[in-house]
Parts: sequence; C-alpha cells; structure tokens
Amino acid sequence: MQRRAFIQKSSLAATALLTVPHFPYKQGPLYSTEELMGKADLELFGKGINLRKEAHDAFVAMHKGAEAEGFNIKMVSSYRSYARQKAIWERKYVKYTDQDNMEPLDAMAKIIEYSTIPGTSRHHWGTDIDIIDANAKVSGDVLVPSKFEEGGPFEGLKQWLDKCANDYGFYLVYTDSYFRKGFKYEPWHYSYAPTAKPMLKQYRKLNILKTLSEADILGAQHYTRAFLLDYIHNNILDINPELL
Ligand SMILES: [Zn+2]
Repeated sequence: MQRRAFIQKSSLAATALLTVPHFPYKQGPLYSTEELMGKADLELFGKGINLRKEAHDAFVAMHKGAEAEGFNIKMVSSYRSYARQKAIWERKYVKYTDQDNMEPLDAMAKIIEYSTIPGTSRHHWGTDIDIIDANAKVSGDVLVPSKFEEGGPFEGLKQWLDKCANDYGFYLVYTDSYFRKGFKYEPWHYSYAPTAKPMLKQYRKLNILKTLSEADILGAQHYTRAFLLDYIHNNILDINPELL
C-alpha cells in the first residue's frame, strides 16, 4: 500500500492505527531525505574510515584482502557532509567567477567535471570511498587517472581492485566507458553497492530539481532547468550500470 493511501485510509478509521504496529514498508530500510543529502547526523565507523557500519565492515575486509597482496589501501575521502560539499563548491565557484572571470553557468559546468552540487554527492551516503595505495611511492596530487594506469604508482592496486573489489561489494562508479557522460573517469572512487543501490533508488524519488533550485548555495540563482536536468541525467544517473 502506498503511504498516502495508507494515511488516508487510516484517517478514515483512526482506531485502526492502534492495531497496526508499523508502517507497512516492505522494500527494506528507509533513508531520510536529510540522510540522502548529507544533512543527517550519521553514525560513522572506523578511525580514518568514516563509513556507515556495513560499508565499514566490507572495507575492512577488502583492506585485509589487499594487504595480503602487498597493497595498503588508504582512504583519501569517505563520508562528506553537505556543509563540507558546500564549502568545496563555493570555493571553486568564487575562484572561477571572480578570479577567472567565467560566466556563472560556465563556472558551474567546470565545477561539475569533478565536484558535485551539494546535496547530490554519493559521499553524503557513507557508502562511497576514494582510495589509493599507501605503499606506493608518489608525489603531487594522488587522485589523477594517469597514476592508476600502466606505469603509474597505483597500477598494481588498480589491477587488484579490477579483479577483487566486486567480491567485497565495492564497484567503480565513474567508469571509463566511452559512452558514459557526467563526471569524468575516477579510477579511485568505489561504492558499496549493497547499501548504495537502495539509497540511490530512494534518492531518485526525491524532487531533486526543486530541492536544488531552492538551495542556499552560491551560483544556485543561475541554475537553469536544462542545467539541472542534464546534471541529474548525466552526473547522478550515468554511472556504472551495476550500481543502478
Ligand atoms: Zn569520490
């Protein structure tokens, strides 16, 4: 039964509520809108891991598996709150529009090559991770695709992840598929599918377009409907099909 139908029916027969112990949800755990947008006070697990419980446990197992092969998986980024994503977004927005004199929409198009609009990051969910190999000798920025390719410092870990990450429930989100749009290839970003899939399913039911256009974020007043629709279609939904 749909929730609205349930409530209507219940209000007609209010006493029936007393005999119904729970709302009749059958599709597994529910995630609040705040939780899906990084605004909830999420319980996080593991020092330097910061993931929700089941993703934490899977990560610890994967770390152990990789360690046996000589890799030391290091978390570069895991849970990120709405406030943190807002700070990242606004820092880039100010830089591109003030220093580089870009038009608002051009600046935002540049930001969303790699960064998300606050409220839409998979890092809000406590299921997604950016990882590297701490055993590798590396200098400069670490989250660079070439460092995961042949001859790069993380080539070994990348090959191991290609072979084994799925066994632990982790899947690459932004693959190097030629046909994929949205965020660029991120060989470091993995998602814990058993939790992230139902979360995305529920996220899709939110009125994302409305929520984003009303957000108190620098640049939001310049969003166009087309920009947001493209973003939802390409950046949020054009991901590894294993995660849909
Ligand atoms: Zn990431």
